[in-house]
Amino acid sequence: MTRPKRELNNGPNIQKEKLIVSKMIRLYCKKKHHYGMICEECHELESYALKRLSFCLFGEEKTACSNCKIHCYKPVYREQIKKVMRSAGPWMILWHPIYSVKHLLNK
Ligand SMILES: [Zn+2]
Repeated sequence: MTRPKRELNNGPNIQKEKLIVSKMIRLYCKKKHHYGMICEECHELESYALKRLSFCLFGEEKTACSNCKIHCYKPVYREQIKKVMRSAGPWMILWHPIYSVKHLLNK
């Protein structure tokens, strides 16, 4: 059984997004779960999120996941990432405008 091969996304936008998502998850874990390092649950979410980005249909053209019309996350992870996003709120606001402007310039 072989699945049709697809290039994994690895462009600069995807890489940046990966960095941001894992940063947010780690931040969240530190705040909520208080382990010295990332806990198992959050680590699982992180690998899942990174995998979703690698397979994102839009690749380099993607918008922020929260604006995306395709909800590619499984419901259970979706709930988790929503919690992460909510808790990382202020930080996202800081990051988002820059990111949107960059998207506009790319067009
Ligand atoms: Zn955690």
